[in-house]
Amino acid sequence: MAKSYDDSNVFARILRGEIPCKKVHETEHALAFHDIDPQTPTHVLVIPKGAYIDMDDFTAKASEAEIAGLFRAVGEVARMVGADGPGYRILSNCGEAAHQEVPHLHIHLFAGRDLGRMIG
Ligand code: ADP
Repeated sequence: MAKSYDDSNVFARILRGEIPCKKVHETEHALAFHDIDPQTPTHVLVIPKGAYIDMDDFTAKASEAEIAGLFRAVGEVARMVGADGPGYRILSNCGEAAHQEVPHLHIHLFAGRDLGRMIG
C-alpha cells in the first residue's frame, strides 16, 4: 500500500519555518540542523527540502538533482563540522522495523568521538 506524506511532521514544520532549528547548512535541495537530543558530541540531521517520507520514498520519487543534492549536502556538512578528518557515521532509519520516528527522510550524521563498531 502506498504511504502518504504527513506534512504535520516536525521536520516539515521546520522547513516551513514554523518551529526553529539550529541550522548548520542549507542548499537548494537540503537543510541540515543539529539534532535536539544529540547522541554524539556532533549529531546533525540532513533532510531533503522535498516531501519524502523515508529513503524508500525518496529513491523511488525524487529527481536526480534532489538525490545528488542531498548527498552532496551530507559531505559538505561533514567538512563544515570538521568530521571529515577524524571520521563520522551516517545513518537513516527507514520505516517501522528501523523505528523511524519522524516521517520525513533524514540522514543522521554522528561525529566527535570514536563511534565504535556497528552491525545491525
Ligand atoms: P529515532 O528518534 O528513533 O532516532 P528517527 O531516526 O526518526 O528516530 O530520528 C528522529 C530524530 O529527530 C531524533 O534523533 C530526534 O532527537 C530528532 N528530533 C526530533 N525533533 C527534533 C527537532 N525539533 N529538532 C531537531 N531534532 C529533532
